[in-house]
Amino acid sequence: MSELRQRARATAAGEQEQQRQQPQAADSAQTVPAAQLLSAGVSADPAADALDASLRTPAASSNAAVDGDSDSEYIVCRVKRYKWAPPAGCENHVYEPHQGEGSQYLRDFILGVNDGIISTFLAVVSIVAGGGSNRTAQLGAISVAVAGAISMGLGEYLATKSQHHVNLGEYALEREHFKYHRDRELDQLRGFLLGVGLEGNLLEACVSQIGRSDAALMKMMQAFEFGGANESIERNPLTAMFTSGKLFLIGCVPTVLPFFWAPTAWDGLWCAGLCVGLMLFAVGAYKSRSTKGVWWYEGLENLLFGVVGAAVSFAVGRVFELLFGVDLPC
Ligand SMILES: [Zn+2]
Repeated sequence: MSELRQRARATAAGEQEQQRQQPQAADSAQTVPAAQLLSAGVSADPAADALDASLRTPAASSNAAVDGDSDSEYIVCRVKRYKWAPPAGCENHVYEPHQGEGSQYLRDFILGVNDGIISTFLAVVSIVAGGGSNRTAQLGAISVAVAGAISMGLGEYLATKSQHHVNLGEYALEREHFKYHRDRELDQLRGFLLGVGLEGNLLEACVSQIGRSDAALMKMMQAFEFGGANESIERNPLTAMFTSGKLFLIGCVPTVLPFFWAPTAWDGLWCAGLCVGLMLFAVGAYKSRSTKGVWWYEGLENLLFGVVGAAVSFAVGRVFELLFGVDLPC
């Protein structure tokens, strides 16, 4: 296990090193599949050659001609709103590294902070709209913050841990398959490789080469069958738990604090509403860094969910007060 992990880290480090190198390195890397095709006895495809050549041809750089700056030769083309194909004129697209290990905790970040913001604020909206005092709103906000952080962290811990055990069980079963039903597993591998365009001699060469090693076969199965080849990015249950709990608490701050300063519950609610609105927009905008979406669109989308939720909570508070006329004690 630890050896696999080290190897995965070494691979990741190698990729980062490649990313630091100039695009020429990527050009030379493209010659490898062609060499493999030739050595496997597959005749060169003219269409593929043309495509290969077009990939290697450096496109004319108008930027470099204008200001003579070699750094500006490679234009960064941000992908707009889920349109994954680079727009025209972006032939010299700069290589942008992936987020690696951090990306798996982005979900926790969005989920934790947003959950903290929304649940705490919506709870106090109901309390204040239902006639609750400033003190009640404080207690309500803190209760939701603590309960939410614990519940969120615990839920995340259990979910991550059970997912980890499910994975371990699947890998153990797969090792049994390797031992007793290897032909069947190799057929499965053949199917996966066919699906990515390998065929004929090259396909058989790949199947037999990969099939020689259990570790290599497992990597392929993890990638194609179980959906995750890199063991080093498997989520740690404790990290996921503390991350979620901590992030939930951070999300509660803009709701909790204003009620300690504001003279009345309604003042606190307005102030918290303003802070919460800004934070919801900021979280949505931050999310766009990873989704490659448009920041203001994602910010507004997140804000809109908060506004709709607050409206529902407000209605609940008003209805409660109308029905029961409750004046909660200070
Ligand atoms: Zn299997």
